Amino acid sequence: MKAEEGPKHVEKYPVLEPGSRSHDRRVTEIKTYETPQTFHAPDRYSDWKERKEHLREILLNACGLWPMPEKEPLQVEVFDRKEYDGYSVEKVLMRTLPGYYATGNLYRPLPKKAGDSQRYPGVLCPHGHWPAGRFADDERASVIRRCVSFAKQGYVCFSYDMVGYADNRKLLEHHFAGDREKVWGITPAGFQLWTSIRGLDFLQSLDDVDPEKIGCTGASGGGTQTFFLDAVDPRVKVSAPVNMISSTMQGGCDCENPPSIRFDSNNMEIGAMMAPRPMLMVSATGDWTKLTPTVEYPAVRSVYELYGVPQRVEWYQQKMNHNYNLASRQEVYRWFRKWFYPFRSPEHFVEPADLQVPASSELAIFPGHEIPKDALPKEQLFAKIREIDRKRFEKYLSGDPDEFRKTYGSAYRDTLAVEEPDPANIKVMSSKDFEVAPASPETGTWNLETFLLSNPVTGQEIPAHLWSPKSTTPDAAPVLLVHPEGKAALLDEQGFPTGSLKEYLDRGSPVLALDCMGTGEFVNDASATNRGERKGHFPTYNLTDTACRVQDILLGETYLAKRFGKPAEMVGLAGAGGWVLLAHGLADRSASTTVDLSGLDTTDDACFVNNLYIPNIRRVGDFVTSIILAGKRPVKITACQDETLRTRLDRAVKRTAES
Ligand SMILES: [Zn+2]
Repeated sequence: MKAEEGPKHVEKYPVLEPGSRSHDRRVTEIKTYETPQTFHAPDRYSDWKERKEHLREILLNACGLWPMPEKEPLQVEVFDRKEYDGYSVEKVLMRTLPGYYATGNLYRPLPKKAGDSQRYPGVLCPHGHWPAGRFADDERASVIRRCVSFAKQGYVCFSYDMVGYADNRKLLEHHFAGDREKVWGITPAGFQLWTSIRGLDFLQSLDDVDPEKIGCTGASGGGTQTFFLDAVDPRVKVSAPVNMISSTMQGGCDCENPPSIRFDSNNMEIGAMMAPRPMLMVSATGDWTKLTPTVEYPAVRSVYELYGVPQRVEWYQQKMNHNYNLASRQEVYRWFRKWFYPFRSPEHFVEPADLQVPASSELAIFPGHEIPKDALPKEQLFAKIREIDRKRFEKYLSGDPDEFRKTYGSAYRDTLAVEEPDPANIKVMSSKDFEVAPASPETGTWNLETFLLSNPVTGQEIPAHLWSPKSTTPDAAPVLLVHPEGKAALLDEQGFPTGSLKEYLDRGSPVLALDCMGTGEFVNDASATNRGERKGHFPTYNLTDTACRVQDILLGETYLAKRFGKPAEMVGLAGAGGWVLLAHGLADRSASTTVDLSGLDTTDDACFVNNLYIPNIRRVGDFVTSIILAGKRPVKITACQDETLRTRLDRAVKRTAES
């Protein structure tokens, strides 16, 4: 519901005092990429190890890479070799996805003598948001000088475009992901991380590269690409993320903010996933890494200490603005020499101020080369990716159920990022209780408790009504009844239970009715409905409204199980059926689920974009995965008008019966 619509139902029994605002932290504490962050390693190595494994999965899932896509055999065209003083440069077109190509240059040392078959360390060189991208070459930052210097120092260096930069502009734009792409996990961050992973495959495949000696370095957005790759790929052996591991700024671009990765993480923790491998944290006094010596470096080092190798992480700081200039590069050359060429004299690893480098026109792939014939325009490319994802999902779905739960079940949990609360954490803050006597005396009297249902761990504070019939039937399960417009929508104009609420009360069940996020009394509070979840990088740092509602439902059913000592029935009325069906797979303490899916338009992913927005949700199997996670807990689905969806859901229900 949108704020401007205002509350649709009069609150006869309000929980919040008139004029007071919600203290739900999901409303009052919206995080952004500029919210200051803290990090310190856990006390025990085993806890870090477990956390690191989970975080790796979260990162890959956020980038649409969990489960990892199948790698096609490398299809790389390396061409237009030119020789310069001590190094050569070639152009690289690498197919990383059916219909998409990574673009870049390969800088190699020239053999010292004919027939020299030496293997060199390889270096991946992603770049930041410099307007010229991998062709950047000025005092502030030069990607070309970095690559030429590496080649002259004895490294094979792959420099590749960000999506939509330099040559890659011809293939895709940089900010390409709309909401439909996001619900399928198709993001610039995912494209770039996948390019880095395939770039590593490419370097390892070269006969002049030592596959065990691969480094990675980039600045700014290239720093983000560096520590994302470090975090997920153990093949990176030495790293130097430049001017990007910060406690105060987590990255300002889409390509640094795949949805959901920083709900409870940050760049210090992600950067620390490099441990125990050597890492140099390059920083500057004039940007968001000015606190590196006192904040970010000690935070990252705390993880290296768990491995007993604090000396493998170092920092360097320059009095300068944001950069990857000569002084920063010089430190990185020193760092790479220390690990890759410890026995060679340091003077071989200095970049001369007057270094001669090729012009960008000598490095560019287009227009000299044709656009690959199988490169797809973006809509077709995204359709192709969705098709591949669907097929992979189907393959897992018809395979081993345990394997399905391990991959997609886990991805589903990471995508929603909510879970049943520990019952011990549930708090009830009563406001006022009522005895509601209806007009016709034969139906008896209902008791109504009004309270805020809260969980201090998650910050939830949900206005709630618990209705009890005059006489409860001993075997009637408690019911969680969810209306899309909140608890007041279950009452008639006089404030008496009506419709479904009355039916369940007449049956003898106590009924809990909630104002899920953004509904009911939340609507009076403008901040609740102005969470701005499609703006900025909101879903990277905060749960979307839909995910919050699933979280509220899990709190409600757990509360009922605790209060009545038996599992609850969860009921999602039309408009809230999707929320409850998404909660179904995570609601282990519940008895059963009944949902009405009226009004959900599932064609072209519309309902997930417009009504049930959670990034990645379609790629991880949405309702189908939820049903399978619930196992044998019964689910009744009514009013599913879309035949394709009905077939999918029927199949999922059947699958749970078989397993
Ligand atoms: Zn970007």
